[in-house]
Amino acid sequence: MSAIDALPPLREVINTHGLVARKSLGQNFLLDLNLTAKIARQAGDLSGMDVLEIGPGPGGLTRGLLAEGARRVLAIEKDRRCLPALEEVAAAYPGRLQVIEGDALEIDPLAHLTPPIAICANLPYNVGTELLVRWLTPPDWPPFWDSLTLMFQREVAERIVAQPGSKAYGRLAVLAQWRCDARIVLSLPPSAFTPPPKVSSAVVHLRALPEPRYSADPKLLEKVVATAFNQRRKMLRAALKGLAPDIEERLRSVGIAPTDRAEQVPLEGFCALARTFEG
Ligand code: SAM
Repeated sequence: MSAIDALPPLREVINTHGLVARKSLGQNFLLDLNLTAKIARQAGDLSGMDVLEIGPGPGGLTRGLLAEGARRVLAIEKDRRCLPALEEVAAAYPGRLQVIEGDALEIDPLAHLTPPIAICANLPYNVGTELLVRWLTPPDWPPFWDSLTLMFQREVAERIVAQPGSKAYGRLAVLAQWRCDARIVLSLPPSAFTPPPKVSSAVVHLRALPEPRYSADPKLLEKVVATAFNQRRKMLRAALKGLAPDIEERLRSVGIAPTDRAEQVPLEGFCALARTFEG
């Protein structure tokens, strides 16, 4: 199971370092190194790339990323109990792993990374969506990263890749698909993790497009989409009436029926509607 490197198997690592999983930190560890190497491979060719990993824990995915040839890995971990285990990984891959202890929501990783950059992580469920939204809404596009390869609860993964007309389609789908190609590349049952979570998980791979699929001001698009899905069961003429008194005309002018609901509107429609608010 640990044939990808000369380090001890992960079960031994968590026993040696007393890494009893903490629910408050979203700790569901991957202990099968064949699986972590497989997840790392979903990120594509990592040679010549810096990889940002959030929440390395005992280092299973970190080892996968290094064994698969990442030029460097920068790992941000909040739980200091994991640091000795990660030091052992760093020693086995000299000069290729830097670990920062801290909260990924508060640390700016950019100073420690050199492009091209990939982000790959088995994210803690409590901060996963927030981190994704931050990575998808940088001040400038293209972003600092080329691709995101991220483990989420299955339900969140489905919201990212959802198509119009489905219940899962919402703000996350529009944000992700407007400027990225997004697909689910791997599905994992609860039994893949220690301890097993209550729900299934999936890995989503997002590749940043050089430019948005349709032009729109990011802030206006975000506002229109958030308002529309905030009351997703209402017709758009009611859900969006706070945005402009002439919202029905605006909707019709871009080919959207005012009686439609948010989940029926494709990405292109939201972008066209956002453009009516420009200037
Ligand atoms: N990558 C490891 C694996 O696959 O086995 C662990 C994944 S576990 C789902 C999430 C990890 O994120 C834990 O190690 C946890 O301590 C860490 N974590 C939780 N909240 C964090 C935060 N705000 N910033 C950085 N790391 C965090």
